Parts: sequence; C-alpha cells; structure tokens
Amino acid sequence: MSLIQTDENIIAQMDSYMQRVSELAPQIYKRRPVACVNTFGCQQNVSDSEKIKGMLKKMGYTFTDEPIDADFVLFNTCAVRGHAEERVFGNIGTTKQLKRERKETVVAVCGCMAQQEHICDRIRKSYPYVDLVFGTHVTHRLPEFLYKRLTGSGRIFEISNDNNEIIEGMPLSRDGKIKGWLPIMYGCDNFCTYCIVPYVRGRERSRASADIIAEAKQMIADGFKEIMLLGQNVNSYGKGLDEDINFSKLLRKINALPGDFRIRFMTSHPKDCTRELIDTVAECEKVERHLHLPFQSGSNRILKQMNRRYTREDYLELISYAKKRIPEVSFTSDVIVGFPGETYEDFLETLDLVKQVGFASLFTFIYSKRNGTPAAQMPDPISREEKGKWFSELLKVQEQISRAKNADLVGREFTVLCDSTAGEGRLSGKTLSFAEIEFEGNENLIGKFLKVRIDKFTNLLQGSVIE
Ligand code: SF4
Repeated sequence: MSLIQTDENIIAQMDSYMQRVSELAPQIYKRRPVACVNTFGCQQNVSDSEKIKGMLKKMGYTFTDEPIDADFVLFNTCAVRGHAEERVFGNIGTTKQLKRERKETVVAVCGCMAQQEHICDRIRKSYPYVDLVFGTHVTHRLPEFLYKRLTGSGRIFEISNDNNEIIEGMPLSRDGKIKGWLPIMYGCDNFCTYCIVPYVRGRERSRASADIIAEAKQMIADGFKEIMLLGQNVNSYGKGLDEDINFSKLLRKINALPGDFRIRFMTSHPKDCTRELIDTVAECEKVERHLHLPFQSGSNRILKQMNRRYTREDYLELISYAKKRIPEVSFTSDVIVGFPGETYEDFLETLDLVKQVGFASLFTFIYSKRNGTPAAQMPDPISREEKGKWFSELLKVQEQISRAKNADLVGREFTVLCDSTAGEGRLSGKTLSFAEIEFEGNENLIGKFLKVRIDKFTNLLQGSVIE
C-alpha cells in the first residue's frame, strides 16, 4: 500500500482555520499581523519555512526579520549538532523580554529539535513564555495551533509522529525568484549511527511524481532558473510508491520539461547512487555536472561503525565511473572527523580518499554526540583537542586541492547562471559544475545565463562576461 494519502479533509480544515485566524488576528493586534520566521539548519528546514510562510501569508501576516516587531515569532530548529541546539535555546531566551512587554505575541518552536521529547520537556519547564511547540510531522497544522492559542487555549505541545502522510496542496511562499527548493521525498530509513534525522523526520516517503512535475512546471512558469530537488536521501526516491518510478526516471521527466532552467539535487547517499543515476546525469543536459556525495569517512572500519553500508572501494569506484561518464563533473562531500573509536590511522584513510577524489570543496564536521543515537553509546577516547588537530590537517589538504582545481579553470569559458550581487557593481554566478565566479555587471543580468571567461583566481574565481 502506498504511504501517500493526500487528505482533502485536512486541507479543508486548515483552510477554515486560516480564514478564522485572518479575521481574528487583526482584531487582537489592532493592525495587520506581523510574523518573524527564524530558520536554522539544512535546506529541508528552509523549504519547510517556505510552507510555513505560505500559511502565514494566507492568514494575512506580513514578515519582519526583527522579533521585537512581530506578533508571531517562530523558531524552525535543527537537531543535527549540539552547539546549534544551544544557539536556538539562546535565541528562544531572547523572547522572554519581548513577551513581558507584549504578552499577546505568540512564540513558537517547530522543526527537528521540537520533535524530541527531552527538548519539549526542557521548553515546558524552563521556557514558560513559549506558546506553541510542534514537531516535523504536523507542520501543516500551524493554522489550527495558532487559532487555538489566539482563542485562549493553554500552551500547545504537539509532537505526535503517527502521521506519515504527505499533505499536498498547502500554500507556499518561496524565498527566492531564481533558485527554488522542490522537496521530492521526506524522512530517512538509513539510521547512520551518528544521525538523529530518522528519529525526528520519520521513515522515508516520496511524493507522487505527478505532484512533483506539476510543481516543477509552475516553478518554470514563474521564472525559476534553478530547481533544487530536495530530500534526505534523494536517490532512494520512489520507494513505497505505486508507480514505476525511481530517482533517475524522475530526473529524466523533469529534464524533458520545456524551458531554460537547471536541475540540482541533494542529498545523495553513496549506497543508493547507481550507475543508472550517473548515466542519467551524463545524458540530461539540464542536470548539473556536480555530485554532492557524502562519504563521511575513508576508513572501512569506521564506515561500518557508522552503518553507512558501503566501503571506501565502493565509493572510489563510483567516483571513477562518474569521472569517466560525466564531462566536467565536480564532487563535494560531507566528512566527519573524530567519530567515536576513530584512530589517527583511520583519519589518514579519510585524508587519502580526499586526495584521490579531488573534491571541489568539503563540508567538514567534528563529530557531535547526539543523544538517542547508537554512536552516543560508543566509547570515544580521543580528546576534542586531538580531533581539532586532525580537523585542521584535513582543512589544509582540502584547501590546497580546492585552490589547484580553481587555478585549473583560469582561461576557460563557461555558461554561468547569474544568481546574486557580490557588491560594488559585481555579480556572482555558478557553472553547471558548481564553480562560483564573480564578474562585473549590471543587476539586470541576475537570473540570466551568461557566457563568462575566467580571468584569474585569487581567493575566488573572477571573470568577464563575453556574451
Ligand atoms: S542517510 Fe544517514 S546521515 Fe543522511 S539523513 Fe539518513 S541517517 Fe542521517
């Protein structure tokens, strides 16, 4: 049976709550209500915040970046790293004064932190001025929670995870106009031993391809030039659906849509990255020539402890196939340094893998213990200071590789999607292989595909528009 059930009753119910809030809130605040949405963490959270803003907009809210100016302050949180959690608590703490001055302001916490029972308990006890706490499975019920709180309900804590549905058709307010997120699946079944995501985001479930295609078509019609397909493990897309689809087939369908746009995707798991997918990337002209493929460790012993279900040899073979098959391909990755039980010899294997692949850049992390995961129980004898030294060694090696790769691009010409300003009459854009180039130009070039020649590499690639 498919896990997907679009529930029209839920949408009708939420529509009714949205209508009621839109009538009530201006009476309470004596003005058009204002919301401040603070987003922490990964692209999935950014995408979820776009849905939250869509609902708020429909309820009549405008937006501010300043909590002090807001009638509704929301923290959409991340649970992946310990220090990020503490930062969120620091931010929540600043609303205490705000609530003292304007008690009708509603303060809410949602996202991955909120999905954890011990975090809810901490908020319940130590942050009495937080009005709403809701988890990742019930984000779409924000209008209901807000209405109930505005009509005098007590504090609301809702973190049930028995809802595995994907709710289609809720409003959405995208942040950008050129690059847009398009979630294709949610949750993760992999249970890497260091990771909290499967516990806070639930089991893998994919959106029906027709819903994704319809959204992609709308994005293209709205003028988006880059569609970022999003999911915790995009390349296992399609599992559990009744249709004959997988991630490669989905990519081909989106690639076939008419229009001038690019397709990116993240995140991919090496164990699900098939040759079929690499062939698809090679054959689809709109798909970026860039694979973000987190390897996490170059040591087979540590990969096993991490429950990653591939070996360094599998990974290197994949990379070698992609290099042969995809012209101009570039790679980025996530790496964890100092996983429990990791020795310097294990770390050297990571370093060796980094050199063999030649990543364009790396997202590097020192292991962060997450309560509730198997790795949190593993002996971890290496000091933080020692891990810090390994970390610096890795950064140094990667910096040399990145510099050499960038220097190799000087003198070449690329089609670049101009996506932002870079200050002082300069613009910034990315190649299909995800190299970032700065060049002079007028802001009306933003959102255009331009031919750019790379003139030099200092700390960044600098070029000139030639067409
Ligand atoms: S694949 Fe592993 S690291 Fe990625 S979200 Fe799933 S459990 Fe976490």
